[in-house]
Amino acid sequence: MGAYRDGKPNWCDSGFYPVLDRLISENGTLHSKLLGIVASQDIQFHSQSDDPVTTVMSTKLVTAPAGTTLAEANEVFRSSKKGKLPIVDKNGSLVSLLSRNDLMKNIHYPLASKVQPKQLICAAAVSTHDADKFRLQKLVDVALDLVVVDCSQGHSTYQISMIKYIKENFPQLDVIAGNIVTREQAAALIAAGADGLRIGMGSGSACITQEVMAVGRPRAAAVRSVSSFAARFGVPCIADGGVSNLGHIVKGLPLGASAVMMGGLLAGTTETPGDYFVSNEGQLVKTYRGMGSIAVMEDKSKVGDNAGTARYFSENDKVKVVQGVAGSAIDRGSINQFVPYFVAGVQYSLQNIGVRSLDALHDGVNHGQVRFEMRSASAMTENNVHGIYSYEKNIYSS
Ligand code: NAD
Repeated sequence: MGAYRDGKPNWCDSGFYPVLDRLISENGTLHSKLLGIVASQDIQFHSQSDDPVTTVMSTKLVTAPAGTTLAEANEVFRSSKKGKLPIVDKNGSLVSLLSRNDLMKNIHYPLASKVQPKQLICAAAVSTHDADKFRLQKLVDVALDLVVVDCSQGHSTYQISMIKYIKENFPQLDVIAGNIVTREQAAALIAAGADGLRIGMGSGSACITQEVMAVGRPRAAAVRSVSSFAARFGVPCIADGGVSNLGHIVKGLPLGASAVMMGGLLAGTTETPGDYFVSNEGQLVKTYRGMGSIAVMEDKSKVGDNAGTARYFSENDKVKVVQGVAGSAIDRGSINQFVPYFVAGVQYSLQNIGVRSLDALHDGVNHGQVRFEMRSASAMTENNVHGIYSYEKNIYSS
């Protein structure tokens, strides 16, 4: 069986991979007698892969009784020096699982967005296709907090009915809808029940929608227009796409976005899926596929209605209309170093602008204290490196 916390399978306990430490119970489910734990070190050097887990599991377990408080559990972690603490009822049946990683994450990332009791917020994306309602139910079963309805053109009858379905069936879920670039589109999604909006069409690093569809909108104009409209209804917005450096984040936020979404920029980090390889130039890179690329459309490894061409409603079509590219992204090291670089950079930038917070930045823009000024092409040349014979521009080192 997998690891459990508060009665929900917990895929985060052991980092990014689905549960390396596995609890073994009598019938393989929660609320059944706990028999042992199998950790990666128990199986790493075990050559007989057919052996039953009961032959390799550790049976001398440190457990705590149901009703143990978090403070008491932390004390057990300190004294036992174990990484996992199964919680059992009076019959020895498994109730939930606490992990030292959670304790450490809480110490190291005190400002991370959390829902009580100290659980990181969990989000997932669904498409507007009916089959994803099943997927959504499964996600809600494992304590989903927020769902993103993902579509290149969010203003559709499909998306509106998906938002209404989510709001009716899972009222506790926050719904981020999109993508959109106009106020009219925003109005329709807000009316359907969207709690947040994703703004951007054709500005993603692996996106060719503006080129092949001739549809989209420059990101800054879209963010300013939609977010100022959505703010009237208290609906926050995410600037999605077009962020290829720190400065782009600092432009997206004062334009009205509460957050930015980055795809290509984070694609080369250790934690993303995809294989690393060395390019012909000797650079370590990682495979990166835009969701509208032919590589994704033809990906047969996906199942259900979301599989490859089925997403595009064209599985029987001979002609595929591609809206993205597949390629590679430069290695960025771990996200644990890369994201703090952006956080620090935005803080420095706000200091330079002269505001103390994101709210003060938005207020400053709305009241004319923080102003934008068009940079001409010659200003951009002037305000860049100049007069130096040769240089290297390394703005981030992992
Ligand atoms: P999609 O699956 O949402 O839509 C594909 C097609 O299926 C569209 O023609 C749509 O009208 C149709 N469709 C959607 N829901 C349906 C339903 N319930 N029943 C029948 N038909 C339905 O995929 P997409 O919009 O092409 O986006 C694919 C991915 O590519 C997404 O991850 C998207 O974010 C990304 N993308 C984004 C952009 C952008 O500029 N924001 C551009 C290209 C691709």
